[in-house]
Amino acid sequence: MRDKTDDSPFPPTQGSGQDGSTEGVPSRKDLEKDITDFLAKKYGGKVRVVSQMVFPKQPHPKMDGSGPGHSDKNETGIKFNMKPEELEAYLDRHVIRQEKAKAVLATKICTHFNRIKYLREKGSEATPLGNIKNNIILIGPTGVGKTFLVKLIASKLGVPFVKGDATKFSETGYVGGDVEDLVRDLVQEADGDIEKARYGIIYIDEIDKIASSQHLHGPDVSRAGVQRALLKPMEETEVDLRVPHDPISQLEAIERFRRSGRREKNTLNTRDILFIVSGAFSGLADIIKKRMCRLGIGFGAEIEVGDEQDWLRHVKPQDLIEYGFESEFVGRLPVITILEELGVHDLYMILKNPNNAVTNTKKQDFRAYGIDLRFEDAALRLLATQAYEEKTGARALVSVMERALLPFEKKLPSTDISYLVVTPEMVRNPEEELEKFLSFYHSPEYRKRYDLLLNEDRQAIVSRLRELDLSHWNEQGIPLTDTKFELAARMVQIHGMEPEEAEEKILALAQRIRAYEKSFLERCDIRITFDEKAVEWLMKEYLDDPAGIYTQCERLCNILEYGLSIVRDRTGRSNFLISEEAAQNPELYINQLIRACYKSSE
Ligand code: ADP
Repeated sequence: MRDKTDDSPFPPTQGSGQDGSTEGVPSRKDLEKDITDFLAKKYGGKVRVVSQMVFPKQPHPKMDGSGPGHSDKNETGIKFNMKPEELEAYLDRHVIRQEKAKAVLATKICTHFNRIKYLREKGSEATPLGNIKNNIILIGPTGVGKTFLVKLIASKLGVPFVKGDATKFSETGYVGGDVEDLVRDLVQEADGDIEKARYGIIYIDEIDKIASSQHLHGPDVSRAGVQRALLKPMEETEVDLRVPHDPISQLEAIERFRRSGRREKNTLNTRDILFIVSGAFSGLADIIKKRMCRLGIGFGAEIEVGDEQDWLRHVKPQDLIEYGFESEFVGRLPVITILEELGVHDLYMILKNPNNAVTNTKKQDFRAYGIDLRFEDAALRLLATQAYEEKTGARALVSVMERALLPFEKKLPSTDISYLVVTPEMVRNPEEELEKFLSFYHSPEYRKRYDLLLNEDRQAIVSRLRELDLSHWNEQGIPLTDTKFELAARMVQIHGMEPEEAEEKILALAQRIRAYEKSFLERCDIRITFDEKAVEWLMKEYLDDPAGIYTQCERLCNILEYGLSIVRDRTGRSNFLISEEAAQNPELYINQLIRACYKSSE
């Protein structure tokens, strides 16, 4: 591990003056002199520098991360401006329950990045007294959304995210791996962009396994050692980006230097990296309970506590120390939050959420074979009940889903079946139900069942779309009608898009139609305006024939163009409002226009 006070034998890379000098860094001449003096002192004139020294060129400020060009906040694409409530609302759309954790994570992570932005704008990246980072501990059983929450936040903010497992770390880092590997992984996650990697999030799971508590097995010394090894990176240190003892990475560095003539920055400072650690912490509730009972609280009227989850809510840093963490370690994790166990209803709500990955992935898998998959409500409830019994939180949803649908996924692609309604019977008895289904598929009752479900699903998506913040539609001057909501919902169903994505797509289609009107005016000197119903009709057609909305407008206007120019030449009229009927039947519209124009001139 290299400390920030590392006394590297290499010349610094930030040379910016004519001779390579910059503030605090010796000039090329000074450096040559220093080295010559050093050699003279050590070898007494027997050794001298004879070849000209090669100095690396000035690195790109983005790679360096500390040069003057570094003040551009957005060059990394990170959203430093997000507000806690905005982020929390985003989490609410994806994560069921965990209100407390959503609020804490949204607030503390936003503050972490806004603080970085504030300090950067002030021109100092660290306060003289040092910063207390908002590193976070997440406590909760498996599969309740700990990783999911942090991943969602990282992707929303555009920061790189890596996850590691504390059980893989060793004191020295050589046996398994260590936190420095995660720092290096961050750079990879950031596609080699070191500046971006500086603001990454490192997530370490199973942190409870490195507590040196007496009720855990194995040597305590190494656990305490791993905790100590984490202290520096969690606060601030320079991590060498070349893998130590890895000849390939060393050779690569030499090769890069040979080609570019500059030594790229090879360390990454962890000052702005946010650390989030998590674990189930079994046995912690007992420690809290003991402490509270010792103090005479808990059983009395002061605090109502029942099961383990209730006790965990009262966790304090001292309980974590008692659990087996060094006080310095706990001190570097000032934010503690609890995630709750998920019940059957929560698991059902996860499956009901149109943004959930479990049903969406399955729908997508079937869509790949041209099969539209729909779930009956009772089937989702049964899947949730089965998953709950596995006691692995939402993770079990994937396995119960696989179990129920595997026979169908195997058989149906070889048939002409284009839709599948998942019923509770299928979840209960997949193999048996598959046989029944194959004979039942072509019946009208089955089609009815499917249509009903399709419609219900669409209405649920429409309700969800209505909850989104769509104020930007107004700003664009495009009216948000029921039909547009329906169209966006159909897009979600047909293409498996997220509701937000479909809404953006519909808005983009409306804008493209307006852009087409403009290009038609420039080309033909005739102003056509599709009325709102015609716009929506064009969009509907687009959904069934995705040739591109522009092509579709073009096809229609090729029919209109000749007739409209006759009318313009005869009457001087150059403005036409195209209704839905005209768009649906352009020949009839043109005939009527021309007839009317001849009639009036008789
Ligand atoms: P852990 O708490 O063990 O880190 P994860 O966050 O990795 O569990 O959860 C596994 C998956 O289960 C997630 O990717 C997500 O799809 C789903 N999931 C878990 N908890 C929730 C939740 N509260 N709301 C919605 N989905 C969830």
